[in-house]
Amino acid sequence: MMKALQKRVAGPGLELCEVEIPSIRPDQVLVKIEMAAICGTDLHIYNWDTWSENRIRPPRTVGHEFTGRIVQLGKDVVGLREGMLVTAEGHFTCGRCYYCRTGQGHICDDVKILGVDVDGIFAEYAAVDAKNIWPLKEDGDPAVGAIHDPLGNAVHAAYAHCLTGQNVVITGCGPIGLFCVALARQAGARRIFASDVNDYRMDLAKKLGADYVVNAKEDDLAAIVHQVTGIGADILLEMSGSRQALASGLDALRKGAAVSLLGIFSDRVDMDLDGVIFKQLTLYGINGRRIFDTWFQMEAALEAGLDVSPVITHRFGFEEYEEAMALMNSGRCSKVLLLP
Ligand SMILES: [Zn+2]
Ligand SMILES: [Zn+2]
Repeated sequence: MMKALQKRVAGPGLELCEVEIPSIRPDQVLVKIEMAAICGTDLHIYNWDTWSENRIRPPRTVGHEFTGRIVQLGKDVVGLREGMLVTAEGHFTCGRCYYCRTGQGHICDDVKILGVDVDGIFAEYAAVDAKNIWPLKEDGDPAVGAIHDPLGNAVHAAYAHCLTGQNVVITGCGPIGLFCVALARQAGARRIFASDVNDYRMDLAKKLGADYVVNAKEDDLAAIVHQVTGIGADILLEMSGSRQALASGLDALRKGAAVSLLGIFSDRVDMDLDGVIFKQLTLYGINGRRIFDTWFQMEAALEAGLDVSPVITHRFGFEEYEEAMALMNSGRCSKVLLLP
């Protein structure tokens, strides 16, 4: 038996319960979880929003961001060994659809998500498809190992553009926005403008290398960007899912600029499409991580010295999960780890 944080009934909350250690299929490995990170998705499931209500079928062990060690190999698994320090891509792709067969598994038509559609990793052990395992360096920071999944989202969004020498605007300083700040800095961005409405997150953006941190409630982001650059920004990385942030981010751009859209908007967005046309902007929708192109880019960025450790602000034991979720709901944190 093992401890696991499960959604037991359709409704708010989670339960820390004793369940059986999962048995693995021949193409899976059993991982002993050493560190888990709480994602926005987990918070949605905890709070039981409309998306969760439609998607989650209890009982379900939640969580998909982790560092752990392989303790058992399925009989068909090759290339991995017991004792390996690993994390994993949390999207299990079907391998059969048009997208999977054309190298775009990240937008698979029949994706199963760890901790959403199958039992996840807020547990002492988890069964994970071997093809999704990503080995970690033994001398790396295991806490950073646990945040590869969201860091991959940031890499996918940021590396859609050449950031070197560019004026980059990042709207939304949640963990993925903060990762983007660090990535833009490492890539040699000319100036980084980050905006949010949360002071805690704005302080972290400064720490991670933003040159200008704008409180969107108090100051006009677009006016500041135009004043500093004289022409407008080259790139917008929209990480907030806020309509106002999107509008002021677009206003901050020069003609011919490019945009990555990653923040999810809870409502439909009215957009100034004429503005997009006359400014000749290029918009990229960013979904998940390219499997495994983004992972190799992320490994390279980390090996070259990318330091995202300031984004990890809190650590809790599994039994303190209520406290951890309350902190996540308060917004006075960035990435929160759960330790079994
Ligand atoms: Zn996640
Ligand atoms: Zn597929």
